[in-house]
Amino acid sequence: MDITTLDRYQMEAMRTAANSDNADMRLMVASLGLAGEAGEVADHVKKVMGHGHALDRDYVVEELGDLMWYVANLADLMNVSLSDVATRNIEKLKARYPDGFSAERSINRGAGIEHGV
Ligand SMILES: [Mg+2]
Repeated sequence: MDITTLDRYQMEAMRTAANSDNADMRLMVASLGLAGEAGEVADHVKKVMGHGHALDRDYVVEELGDLMWYVANLADLMNVSLSDVATRNIEKLKARYPDGFSAERSINRGAGIEHGV
């Protein structure tokens, strides 16, 4: 996939974003929405692992789309394209794990200095 496809997705997602001039409100909605959608995935996995439900792949895929929608909105609020977000992430991961993921590099990467994966 051409990474700029993400930018086309972002344009489509923004077509259905709330049309508000209140940047603080948009930031709050996008951030809480992102956390809420992640929570929907976590709740489903809790039910699968803890309550014996069947994994509903279609549900998870739909929630991934909801997450992408909020990521696109939050990126727009940060005045950055999704392709820039994706490129920065890949560059960070290449620097962190040049030979692919390793538990040893993960454990010894400087606690408290970096955030994330
Ligand atoms: Mg959802």
